[in-house]
Amino acid sequence: MYADVIVDIASGEVDRIFEYRATEDCYEGSRVTVPFGVKKIDGIVMALKENPEFDKNKVKDILKVIDDVPALTREGLEIVRFVKERYHVTTALALRLMLPSEMRKGKVKAKNAVFYTLNPAFSSVEIISRTGSRAPAQKGIAEFLAKEGRCRSAELREKFGDSAVRAMLAKGFLSEITERENRNPYLSLKKESKAVDLVKAQKNAIETILSRPDGTTLLHGVTGSGKTEVYLNLIKSAVDEGRTAIMLVPEISLTPQMLSQLRARFGSAAAILHSGLSNGERFDEWWRLRTGEARIAIGARSAVFAPVENVGVIIVDEEHDGSYLSETNPRYSTLEIASFRAKYNGCRLVLGSATPSIESFVRAESGVYGLVGMPDRINKMPLPEIEIADMRKEVRRGNASAFSLALRSELKKTLDEGNQAMIFLNRRGYSQTVICQECGYVVKCQSCDVSLTYHLDSNVLKCHYCNATYKMLTACPECGSEYIRYGGTGTERVVQDLKKTFPEARILRMDNDTTRNKEGHFKIINEFASGNADILVGTQMIAKGHDFPSVTLVGILDADMSLYFSDYRSRERTFQLLTQVAGRCGRAEKKGTVVLQTYNPENPVLRFAVNYDYDGFIRSEVELRRATGFPPFADIVRVMVESADDAKALEVLKAVCTETENIRSENPDEFIFFGKMRSPIKRVQNKFRYQVLMRIVSGKRKIVDSVYIIAGKYRTKDVNVYVEENPNNLN
Ligand code: ADP
Ligand code: ZN
Ligand code: ZN
Repeated sequence: MYADVIVDIASGEVDRIFEYRATEDCYEGSRVTVPFGVKKIDGIVMALKENPEFDKNKVKDILKVIDDVPALTREGLEIVRFVKERYHVTTALALRLMLPSEMRKGKVKAKNAVFYTLNPAFSSVEIISRTGSRAPAQKGIAEFLAKEGRCRSAELREKFGDSAVRAMLAKGFLSEITERENRNPYLSLKKESKAVDLVKAQKNAIETILSRPDGTTLLHGVTGSGKTEVYLNLIKSAVDEGRTAIMLVPEISLTPQMLSQLRARFGSAAAILHSGLSNGERFDEWWRLRTGEARIAIGARSAVFAPVENVGVIIVDEEHDGSYLSETNPRYSTLEIASFRAKYNGCRLVLGSATPSIESFVRAESGVYGLVGMPDRINKMPLPEIEIADMRKEVRRGNASAFSLALRSELKKTLDEGNQAMIFLNRRGYSQTVICQECGYVVKCQSCDVSLTYHLDSNVLKCHYCNATYKMLTACPECGSEYIRYGGTGTERVVQDLKKTFPEARILRMDNDTTRNKEGHFKIINEFASGNADILVGTQMIAKGHDFPSVTLVGILDADMSLYFSDYRSRERTFQLLTQVAGRCGRAEKKGTVVLQTYNPENPVLRFAVNYDYDGFIRSEVELRRATGFPPFADIVRVMVESADDAKALEVLKAVCTETENIRSENPDEFIFFGKMRSPIKRVQNKFRYQVLMRIVSGKRKIVDSVYIIAGKYRTKDVNVYVEENPNNLN
C-alpha cells in the first residue's frame, strides 16, 4: 500500500502532499514520521492506495506510525475535506482544526505513571515471610501491596521511604508497571447533582426533540426556563444508545459550570476541550475522547471538532452568540460544521437560546428546523423587572458618574439585604480613550488606527487590536499640557468607583484582563458563586448562561454601546445582550431587578427588551432585513486586502475589484450592493486595510465560491487577501 501524506501542517500556507510506502499498522488518518530530504518530519496520512502515482522505486518508506489509534477518524477526514472546500483553505489549515496544537508540534507527550506490584513470580505470603522483622519498612511494603494490589511509585516511596523501595526492588520482590495517566483539568470542581423532577415544558421539549431522530431543532426557552436539564437528558439518551455527544457553550467561562453538571451525571465520560487548559491537559482530554474512554465533549467553539465517533446529539447552547463564528483563518461557522456532523452521523442537532438568531428564527418559521418553546421560568417567577434610567436626566441633575441614582440605591438595598449584584459593562480597562483637555489630542496606537485604552492595574496604555503596550503619558505630546481626561469608562474604573461608594463591599471583576491565568474564569466564578463577593463587575463574559441564585440585581451601565455601531446586526446584538444580562438575576426564590442605563430611552430595541418581547422584536427586525436586503435574506461577503505596503494593497484591491465586478455583471440580479473602499479601521498592526464589500442574494454558493477563488489568486507573501461571510463586525 501507498500513502498520501500531508507534511508540514504548521506552515499551513500550501499543501505539501507526498507519497510514501505504507506499513501494515498505517491507516487513513494516522500520524506518521517520514523522511523528508535529509530530515525526518511528521505528517498525516490522508489516503491509502494500491499504486503510487510516482515511480515505485523512488518512493520512500514511512519510518514510523506515531499512535496506535489513527489521530483522525474517518469522519475527521471528511470534516477536513468539507472545511477545505467550503472555506477554500488548504488541507493543512483544515487539519489544524482537527488536531490539538500540541500534537502538530509534537512537544507534548503522554504522561506516564509508574506503579509497583508484588512480583507475581513469588506468592505474597512468601515475600512477606522473607522480608525480615529487622526491616519493618520492607515488610510494610509487602503487606501493603499484598492487600492493595498496586501502588503508585511516588506514593509508595512517600509512605515507606525511598531506601526500602530500592531494597525491595533489588531483591526482585517488586514488579514495575508503567501506565498512561491522564492529566485531569478542573479536579477541584464541585460536582453538582441536583436530582430534579422535570417540569412539563422540559418533558415536552425532550419528547419533541427525541421524536425527530435526525434534523435540527431550535429550543427557544427564556432565561431560567431549565434548558440545561433538557440538554442533560438528551445527552443521556445518546449515551444510553451507545453513542457520543457534543455540547457547545459560547464562552470558556461557562465550561466549568457545565462540566460539573456533566461529571455529576456521567463521571469521567465527560471531557473538556478549550484553549484555557494546559497543553498536557488538552492533549489527554483529546485522547480520552478519541479512544472512546470519554464519550461527551464539552467546550466552546472549537469543541465542534471533538474527535468523537458515532455522535448521537450535538447541542449548541446560546446558538445566537457571535463567538460561534471563527474570526481567524479558517473562518468557519460552528453551526455549519455542527450541521455537517449531524448529517454525517444521522443525529440530532439542538440549537438552544432565549433569543434565537434571526437566521434560526426564519428557518424554524419556514419549517427547516423543528421548533420547541419553553416560555416560563422554572420557578414560575416573572422575569425580572427592567427599570430604565435615563442618563440624560442624570447629567442634567449634575450626576456625571457612571451610576444613575436608581442603580446606586438599588445597589445599596441589595447589599443591605445580603444579596449579590452583577454590573455589566462591555468595555475593559480603565478608560477607553485618553484625551488632552487643552488641544483635544487623542492617544493612538502607533501600529493601528485606533485609540489606546488606559489600564490602571498595570498603569499602561494598551492597544486592544494589536496588544501593544505604551507608557502612560504625564503630559500631552502635542501641546505639553498636563491636563489629561479619561473618556469612556471601563470595568477597572467601575470597580474603583464602586469601592469609593461602597467601601465595605467585596467586589470581583471578570474580563479578558482578569482571566488570563489558567482556570482564571473558574476561580472568579467560584468565588462569586460561593458568596465570597457581593458584586461582580464584568464584560460580556458575565452576560451569558451563568446561574447564580443569590443575584437579585443586575446593572447595565451603558445599554446603548452596541447600538452605536453602524452594523446591521447591532439592534439584534443589543436585544440579545440585554435579554441575556437581565436573565442573570432573580433565578431562584428571590425576585430580581434590572437597572438599564441609557441615553436613548425611546429606542424601540430597548422597548422590546424591557418588555421581553422577543416576538415583537424579531418580527420587526425580519421585516427590516427583508426590505433592506440584509442577512438572512442576503449574504454579506467582504474581501479584505491587507498589506504593510499601502500602494501594493491598493493595487491588489483594484484587481480584485475588477474581477468581482465581472461576476456582478454576469449576475446583475444577485447583487444587492457592491462597493470598494478603505476599511473603517484603516490600519491594524501596521497593515493598511481595504475591502470590497458585497451583498449577494442569500444562498448563491457558486458566486461566493468564485469570490473566494479570486481572493486566493491575489494572495501573496506581502498582501493578504481573504474572504469573510456575514462577519461579526465590519470594522
Ligand atoms: P436556562 O439555561 O434555561 O437559563 P437553567 O438550565 O440554568 O436555565 O435552569 C435554571 C435553574 O432552574 C437552575 O438553577 C436549575 O438547576 C433549575 N432547574 C432546572 N430544571 C429544574 C426542575 N425540573 N426542577 C427544579 N429546578 C430546576
Ligand atoms: Zn494637548
Ligand atoms: Zn495597535
